[in-house]
Amino acid sequence: MAEPLRFYNTLTRRQEPFESLEPGRVRMYTCGPTVYDYAHIGNFRTFLFEDVLRRTLRLFGYQVTQVMNLTDVDDRTIAGAHAAGVALGEYTARYIDAFFANLDALRIQRAEHYPRATEYIPRMVDLIQRLEAAGHTYRSDGSIYYRIASFPAYGRLSGVRPEANLPGARVDVDDYDKEDARDFVLWKAPRADEPSWQTAVGPGRPGWHLECSAMSMELLGETFDIHCGGVDNIFPHHENEIAQSEGATGKPFVRTWLHAEHLLVEGEKMAKRLGNFFTLQDLLDRGHDPAVIRYLLISVPYRQKLNFTFDGLHAAAQATDRIANTLRRLDHTPPSQAPAEPVQAAIQEFRRDFRAALGDDLNTARALAALHTILRQVNIALDADGIGAAARASLTGALAEADSVLDVFPAVAPTTGRDDADIERLVAERADARSARDFARADSIRDQLAEMGVTIEDTPHGTVWHR
Ligand code: AMP
Ligand code: ZN
Repeated sequence: MAEPLRFYNTLTRRQEPFESLEPGRVRMYTCGPTVYDYAHIGNFRTFLFEDVLRRTLRLFGYQVTQVMNLTDVDDRTIAGAHAAGVALGEYTARYIDAFFANLDALRIQRAEHYPRATEYIPRMVDLIQRLEAAGHTYRSDGSIYYRIASFPAYGRLSGVRPEANLPGARVDVDDYDKEDARDFVLWKAPRADEPSWQTAVGPGRPGWHLECSAMSMELLGETFDIHCGGVDNIFPHHENEIAQSEGATGKPFVRTWLHAEHLLVEGEKMAKRLGNFFTLQDLLDRGHDPAVIRYLLISVPYRQKLNFTFDGLHAAAQATDRIANTLRRLDHTPPSQAPAEPVQAAIQEFRRDFRAALGDDLNTARALAALHTILRQVNIALDADGIGAAARASLTGALAEADSVLDVFPAVAPTTGRDDADIERLVAERADARSARDFARADSIRDQLAEMGVTIEDTPHGTVWHR
């Protein structure tokens, strides 16, 4: 076996070799957007890190089951709907649609599940009942709170020390600072101006933290492999998720926690009042290419702060142009009689470096550097005596493998193996999988084709495809 993947685990505060609970399969939960507004480019930095993680796991041979929730009921969505004077569902729908359109623009692969909080209320109620039975809760004024003193491991993830706080002191809001490490709300009493549900624990609505515990365990099991988010999720959100899940099940909740550092803009925190606040659409409206934005946002390893600047975006555009130019040149140069060995050796080194970089806690900067190195070598070979057919075939394979993670190549480049013969082969493979009733495989081939810009249609006369 090749060298393993290593990840920095926020829980243990060190890099560890990764091992999945079930061989060959990874179950991961990635905290999704709160759909009260358009997601900003900081949010997308985190979602892109998770996309690179997902694709890296697949490169290393794992099947991935990823869940990304949509927080469609919480303090912010309710306040937004209220201000807009529309029903909550109507208010969140437009941001959910925009979110998926943005994911596609940034070439972010779809997760297997996008549960919406409003569709999991019964599971949340079950979880509260389990916590009540285990003695972790108390009621006050129609709301239900988690008593953090009842969970001795509270603070293990974030390092927050709850014992400094007064017992019985509570917070009712979804988001708060470390200074307010207090008993937090699981279920909020109904209010005239808020949506509420009639349930076995009484009328009301869930707190944000409860939502993720309930949805993740429902879809991935009580213990699963990986949970991610941005660093601002560590406290209180993820700390509270652990308390809720482990308090109810008595089992470890998540083995590996990964957190992306924040994106800054021109060296500062993004804020509307500073005029440095950008949604993805803002950048697209200014004419920036989403593939270049993707390149820039993944170019810095996820545990380092990323300083977004327009100079940086310009440099990313130059880098993606360099890639496109070399691929085009390779494409348009007929194979030569040159010996294969030197190119094959460079390809081997590239594959090794590329995997080692990603295996080292997703070092995307090094992975991109390896890509630019091999492309430079390609140019040098083309300047000299060209590249033979066999070497070119392995080069194509190695580049396609790299782009299966990075996805920064031009949309349709035959050099990356995206020619008709490859598409036909995948379509045939999918037909085989369908007749063997292996629908998971069939769907994953469909996704793969979609990533290549190919859509397929099943007709009574068989499957047809088009770009
Ligand atoms: P939200 O929609 O606010 O719940 O955030 C969605 C995701 O984006 C969460 O995982 C946050 O941790 C992450 N996030 C928020 N702000 C930033 C930022 N400036 N840079 C990177 N990630 C962020
Ligand atoms: Zn969450």
